[in-house]
Amino acid sequence: MDVPIIHKDLKKFSLTPNLTDYHRCYQSFSWTQARANIKGYGKGINIAFEAVDRHVEEGHGEQHALIWLGKKGDRQTYTYTDLKAVSNRFANLLVKLGVKQGDRIFSLAGRTPQLYAAILGTLKMGGVFCPLFSAFGPEPIQSRMTIGDASILVSSLKLYKKKVAAWQKQLSTLKHVLLYDCEGQCPEGCIDLDSQLPQADDQFTVCETSEETPALLHFTSGTTGKPKGAVHVHNAVVHHKHSGFYALDLHPGDRYWCTADPGWVTGTSYGIIAPLCNRVTLIVDEAEFDPERWYQILEQEKVNVWYTAPTAIRMLMKVGEALIQQYDLRALRFLASVGEPLNPEAVTWSQRVFGKPFHDNWWQTETGGIMLANFAAEPVKPGSMGRPLPGIHAAIVSINEQGQLTEVKQHGEIGELALKPGWPSMFRDYLHEAERYQKCFNADWYLSGDLAYEDHDGYFWFVGRSKDLIKSAGHLIGPFEVESVLVEHPAVAEAGVIGIPDEVAGEVVVAFVALKPGFNANDELTTALMAHARKKLGSAVAPRAIHIKDNLPKTRSGKIMRRLLKARELGLPEGDISTLESDEHPQQNMQNSGDQA
Ligand code: ATP
Ligand code: MG
Repeated sequence: MDVPIIHKDLKKFSLTPNLTDYHRCYQSFSWTQARANIKGYGKGINIAFEAVDRHVEEGHGEQHALIWLGKKGDRQTYTYTDLKAVSNRFANLLVKLGVKQGDRIFSLAGRTPQLYAAILGTLKMGGVFCPLFSAFGPEPIQSRMTIGDASILVSSLKLYKKKVAAWQKQLSTLKHVLLYDCEGQCPEGCIDLDSQLPQADDQFTVCETSEETPALLHFTSGTTGKPKGAVHVHNAVVHHKHSGFYALDLHPGDRYWCTADPGWVTGTSYGIIAPLCNRVTLIVDEAEFDPERWYQILEQEKVNVWYTAPTAIRMLMKVGEALIQQYDLRALRFLASVGEPLNPEAVTWSQRVFGKPFHDNWWQTETGGIMLANFAAEPVKPGSMGRPLPGIHAAIVSINEQGQLTEVKQHGEIGELALKPGWPSMFRDYLHEAERYQKCFNADWYLSGDLAYEDHDGYFWFVGRSKDLIKSAGHLIGPFEVESVLVEHPAVAEAGVIGIPDEVAGEVVVAFVALKPGFNANDELTTALMAHARKKLGSAVAPRAIHIKDNLPKTRSGKIMRRLLKARELGLPEGDISTLESDEHPQQNMQNSGDQA
């Protein structure tokens, strides 16, 4: 696809971007230098200290750290001093309850202030925090808490009663349940967080966690199979801070909105840690996706930097441009996306309607932070994930049948996207799955499981998950390329493409699409879509069949589950569907990602 590159004119920027010369910055970068930007205290390094306490110590306590927008229209603001105090109280409460360093504290909470206090407080006292997405049903919650040997659960009374109470006794490691929003109805054996927290001391000496002390446990999105528990350590903060600075162009005082839920790694790494480390003001919206509400928030809260996900962007595109015209979005300076491939169409749409492109970036739960990005001052190639961050060494590799790895030198050649280990936010383990962890590495490379290619400018282009690559009549076809062409058609809101076994061709391409409002499924439209795909892709790559669906199956973090499309098409077992979003409520819980990403 030949979509024109979007060039930038530095003279037109209201604020000089943090990265103005990619090559110079990439070449001169060192992790020692990045580590020196982390203040630490005593011998320790601690994510929460760096995110919050440091700024208070440096005289910025009165700056707003968090603006919380409740579902019902309430709005609360927290300064860095407030956030320090409330997280100290939470840390003290945990210590009083006998929680020890290394114990795992789980949350099952909506985007409420208590969740932010809990994660920062846990990190301060050396606990390991594991956020769960609040829309999970009882089974995925129980299985994750069991795998993680949860010792504390933080939740609301409502969520607890609905999703945990019935099986709680089966989890012998669980020592305490801390509940908020109990309104005097806290069940026996549980602790009323809203009454206990104000009684706890607001002074706390952050515990001396070291670089390798475990800090976070994040489960992957479950797009390709059973979710894995990725373990991250306190040293990750070095990359969080530095990637927020370069890839999201965060400046102190920015008003920043990451729409991802903290139940996913994006919502923690870039919804909490990276932005706070860069001393911005977080906008946190408790409500679910709603186009009008979103534009209203962007306008009223004067959001400068907005980090969201392709599914949300496609939903906004589906609603149309007229709505955007009603809002004053001039405060928006930088837009970024992660979690899934971002179709070129979405980038050019954004350039047209916001006057700025979405900057796609790529990373995974395992990488803990952004690895590839399109940068604020650099040209954007629509459809590309961008280039490696300073400090990140990425390559395309191929592995032969004997398991030997070689780096692909030829630009444009497809292979597996690999990273040289050593960046600080790299996962240290899959919890209780050491063998699976080891399998991610080959000859000193971390293998991402994604297929991509690199162009002559060093930009990386996503092709598909390695398991999703389609081999048809001697061609290798990446689902993303076919999906992007289908999404270009005015009737198509989103597309998922899979390979189906075929006696003659090996596999044939089959596409599933959901339509924009105002378009109806009929034979004429299917024929028009086929003609569009053939014209753009050629008959060897175009889908053999296109099925129109009301919705495509997605993870709760908004990723299209191609493996499920395939299983359903072939009548095979559906496998782990613990993260499947319910088909009946496609717009609910769409706040990503990413997911990761
Ligand atoms: P699981 O590992 O359980 O199957 P998952 O891989 O979807 O789930 P995440 O870690 O949340 O879990 O997502 C990372 C993956 O998301 C990447 O490996 C990639 O496939 C996809 N992804 C993330 N960002 C991008 C992007 N910008 N472009 C293309 N794909 C992306
Ligand atoms: Mg994955």
